[in-house]
Amino acid sequence: MRTAPGQRVRTRFAPSPTGYLHVGGLRTALYNYLYAKKTDGDFIVRIEDTDQARKVEGADRSLLKTLEMTGIVPDESILHGGHFGPYVQSERLDIYRRFCRQLLDQKNAYYCFSTAEELEENRKLQMKQGLQPKYNRKWLPEEMGGTMPGSEIRKKMQENVPHVVRMRVPDYISIMFDDVVRGPVEFDSATVDDQVLMKSDGFPTYHFASVIDDHLMEISHVIRGEEWLSSMPKHLLLYDFFGWEPPKAAHLPLLLNPDRSKLSKRQGDVAVEDFLKKGYSSEAIINFVALLGWNEGEGCEREVYSLEELEKTFSLERVGKAGAVFNIEKLDWLEKQYIKARPQEKILDVIRPLLQSELEKKSTDMNVDHISSDEYLGQVIELMRERVSFEHEIITFSSYFFFDPEAYDEKAVHKRWAPDTNDVLRDFITVLETVEDFSADNLEKTLKDFVAPREKKPAFLIHPLRILTSGVGFGPSLYHMLEVFGKETVLRRLRKGLERISVPQQEQGGLPPRGIVIRD
Ligand code: GLU
Repeated sequence: MRTAPGQRVRTRFAPSPTGYLHVGGLRTALYNYLYAKKTDGDFIVRIEDTDQARKVEGADRSLLKTLEMTGIVPDESILHGGHFGPYVQSERLDIYRRFCRQLLDQKNAYYCFSTAEELEENRKLQMKQGLQPKYNRKWLPEEMGGTMPGSEIRKKMQENVPHVVRMRVPDYISIMFDDVVRGPVEFDSATVDDQVLMKSDGFPTYHFASVIDDHLMEISHVIRGEEWLSSMPKHLLLYDFFGWEPPKAAHLPLLLNPDRSKLSKRQGDVAVEDFLKKGYSSEAIINFVALLGWNEGEGCEREVYSLEELEKTFSLERVGKAGAVFNIEKLDWLEKQYIKARPQEKILDVIRPLLQSELEKKSTDMNVDHISSDEYLGQVIELMRERVSFEHEIITFSSYFFFDPEAYDEKAVHKRWAPDTNDVLRDFITVLETVEDFSADNLEKTLKDFVAPREKKPAFLIHPLRILTSGVGFGPSLYHMLEVFGKETVLRRLRKGLERISVPQQEQGGLPPRGIVIRD
């Protein structure tokens, strides 16, 4: 049964299946989704594939899949069904034909036989004259205020000459509407072209199909990018021809690069699936995209929102007009906030399979059961979550938690080794061998007690210990890291390290060591 207009909120995201899901598309989908959720309405995804030449096989499903990966699940779509289908325009051709017939009968539309060459010539001529290019109405019938006799049109039809159907834009009227984001907008019909509604291949144009579908699918709010604002007069005229009430419109601000140019279309920079592949989480992506044009209130400092929170807080009224700058650093910052706050189990779910595949690739000297246990991984997570940009880096950037170092950062070794470093390390190993409490606190105390009588600073040992046990010169707190490695691993790595790093005899005696040798 048809609900009275204005009763139920129904929004739609209407992507053309021409490739990947652009962040701009995700923002449109998200705002439509949020507005529907906020008002207990329906969110629909409709595939607009009327441009058959640009259609990419499988793009419809992959767009929906990517959307779902970010947590946006439509109520109605090609995958979810619904009462207003089909949800793909190429399966609705008979509907558009029927409505096109109606407009032809009503004399709101006419056949046009102008060839591509003629149109191009006309366009060039108008440009030369400094006019805005528009169809010259060569085929507008006499009976509709044009110059073409009906007999000529009938003749072409009988000869089956390829043609399109154009809408007849009324002369000199003003077309006004209230945009939810932009406020009152007015267009002069003299600036509106006699838009093609049906193409010669029998497919409708975007404008025609989208108006019909928005009406038949009972869309209450059309929320889309600002680039579609200029299409509004055509759409509103079509609603008027049919005697339909148009949905409310909200045109979202442009997305800009930090230099305020229009956001790039280069896939690597803006494809949502690529962000996911790089390791950004759906939470951070959604949060980031939500803030591209919307804020909760003037002066509101809050920046971190979950999808559920957005479903409650979002409002179309708080979407701004000014272009929204796409600042990737903000996304990075948000990702870090999410990693800091994410429950350990969730991170475990991501890193467990990564560790598994690492362990399949190479063997380890550590106890596999121990390093794969939730307890061990949990300790690694807590040490690393503040230091990584992506969850997967917990495994990829800190492989020393799972594998003995294969090499040492040479620069770090040269910087941190003194002529007597190896001797002091050797003595320290014998002390460590006797340590029973291998906790970070006790390790710190042990090291400090050890260096003090030798008139060395803790750093004298801290850096070499880190390099020998992890291979690199930076990382989380040394003492905590050693505690997680455990005594056996620490001692094994230190002994191995001392065998591999040697300071030549002649360098001893206070001079900065030069020919340090690091053996494999
Ligand atoms: N199919 C159009 C697009 O690709 C949809 C525009 C609209 O939302 O009306 O963006």
